Amino acid sequence: MRRSLEVPLPLTGRPLALHAFVVGFEPITESVSLLGGDPGRFLLEPVTASAVEYEDGWVLLDGGFNLAVVRSQPARAEHLNYESYAPLVPPGDPLAEGVARAGLDWSRLAGVAISHTHLDHTGVLATLAPEVPVIVQRREWEWVASGAGRPDVVLATDLLNVETQVRLVDGDATIAPGLESVATFGHTPGHQSFRVSLPSREIVLACDAADLRANIETRTPCGWTPGGDAGAAEARVSIERLADLDDAGVEVWPGHDPLWEPWMRAAKGEAVRVS
Ligand SMILES: [Zn+2]
Repeated sequence: MRRSLEVPLPLTGRPLALHAFVVGFEPITESVSLLGGDPGRFLLEPVTASAVEYEDGWVLLDGGFNLAVVRSQPARAEHLNYESYAPLVPPGDPLAEGVARAGLDWSRLAGVAISHTHLDHTGVLATLAPEVPVIVQRREWEWVASGAGRPDVVLATDLLNVETQVRLVDGDATIAPGLESVATFGHTPGHQSFRVSLPSREIVLACDAADLRANIETRTPCGWTPGGDAGAAEARVSIERLADLDDAGVEVWPGHDPLWEPWMRAAKGEAVRVS
């Protein structure tokens, strides 16, 4: 059964490197990414994932689209294609190719942490070995278990099918040494960002609490939140938190910014490794 993550993942030492991946693209209006943005301006946003490498294994942060669904026209129509939204995934398996370019071995994957359960982040869960822990916020699990689905841009089976692998965390938590969950609720009820302490850099992956650098630099939350006023208020708290970290000298990486340099390089097929 599901249980709380009582101890961090059994990795030793500190993170050696962060690897950045782009695993697809999606048309998103600026107003969805940025509250008050232009509803007529579509951005082709990268769908991103990352790996945190340790001496004795690695952790995957987010997992793109479910490729079996994205590559089946009927399944795609049922689960992924919305009015004014249809994801674009390059040929092949962009996540597997990114992991291979990074020199990482799936047999040494210690765990997967999912920022939130929108369907552009949960796809990898369908392909995991059954012993790999899947870390999500308790609030996010409860949202999905209580019926979040297509109207919420959630492909619930991605997560529900790995129920026995799910490990729940509450708010800020240590996932592994030097890798922390940063609670950034609002974009979804249990959205989390990730703080990675590298040998020479301190990085926070905002994920979808800040799609764009503009969210961080102008302290503007995402433009689309479930949960009415309460969700919108949480998103405002989250963007303030991320902007404060950015002001304090932490590198806060936006989750979907097409002009953020590491994602631009990864989108071209470069191996992007920072340490
Ligand atoms: Zn999202």
